[in-house]
Amino acid sequence: MPEVFLKRITYEELLKKPDIIVECIKQTKLAKFFQKGSFTALKIHFGEKGNTSYINPNFLLPLVKFIKKEGAKPYLFETNTLYRGERMNTIDHINLALGHGFGKLNIPIIIGDGLKGEDYSEVAINGKHFKSCFLAQALKDADSLLVLSHLTGHMLTGFGASIKNLGMGCASRRGKLAQHCQVSPQINEARCRACGLCAENCAARAIEKKGEKYSIVIDRCVGCAQCLSVCNQGAVDIVWSNEYNLIGEKVAEYAYAATRTKKCAYINFCLYITKECDCMNKEKSGFVKDLGVLLSDDPVSIDKASIDMVIKQEAKDAIQEAHPQIDYLHHLKYAQDIGLGSFEYKLTEI
Ligand code: SF4
Ligand code: SF4
Repeated sequence: MPEVFLKRITYEELLKKPDIIVECIKQTKLAKFFQKGSFTALKIHFGEKGNTSYINPNFLLPLVKFIKKEGAKPYLFETNTLYRGERMNTIDHINLALGHGFGKLNIPIIIGDGLKGEDYSEVAINGKHFKSCFLAQALKDADSLLVLSHLTGHMLTGFGASIKNLGMGCASRRGKLAQHCQVSPQINEARCRACGLCAENCAARAIEKKGEKYSIVIDRCVGCAQCLSVCNQGAVDIVWSNEYNLIGEKVAEYAYAATRTKKCAYINFCLYITKECDCMNKEKSGFVKDLGVLLSDDPVSIDKASIDMVIKQEAKDAIQEAHPQIDYLHHLKYAQDIGLGSFEYKLTEI
């Protein structure tokens, strides 16, 4: 049975003693994770502009030092967003990360799907929804992946932690579009300047000019997201799906693809737990009490344990209450069914 380790601690306590994370790692089998010479991607979410609940880089200073001491080569790894915002291209994304203090870690920041989110590598999984997944190109070069996740509620999967960080967070823009949408994007006439760049870059020839207007021919669109990447007017709109169970299953399949070829380990920061994810920028404090930090080598176990521990601490399912329309257990169960990890776990407090 997979093991999950829990260190109870508050946000403020961890700020004062961030070396606790290294002490925890040393007490678990995760200590063997960092190997000499291995390219070690630290998968992280830098928080959208204005957000304050993202994983505080100060928590990671001793961890990065420890990884370097072990001889591994750590770097921060993230991908561009599907939605319009400050993390939609590599330049703005890295500037935001630096603005949020991640420069103090003094390790490279790699946005794995390229300058505009166009770079991907295809990983075959033969899943129910996807025969193959379009992951961020640079992910394939990582030897190991340490997934650092902030537990939050989530508007599409009910909650987000390791599985969401893997599935959505390691996908290229094309992969994110495939997870989030059932239909092709649409051109927003009010924003479109009729430059024709999207049509020139659409390999499927799915963008047509009629008079002075460009539009997408739905039947021809293959959902590659290239038009989203090249349009510098932000005039290509995404038609978001709200089929929550379907999205959850797709996210789980992408998470499965992301873990196929490398060693993975997971740390969930169950601190400053917000109702929405770090792509939002509204909540200035957690809506439940801080729980602590969980560590495991199983993404399903660690997410299930994180939720179980919050329920136990609050004596109610606060996350379900925050998103009553979403059955969050659905994506966890599906993740187990496809072999991503285990619902059962052994919890050890350290
Ligand atoms: S690239 Fe953008 S602005 Fe140019 S035609 Fe396409 S949608 Fe319009
Ligand atoms: S998503 Fe791809 S195939 Fe569809 S219109 Fe845009 S560029 Fe063309």
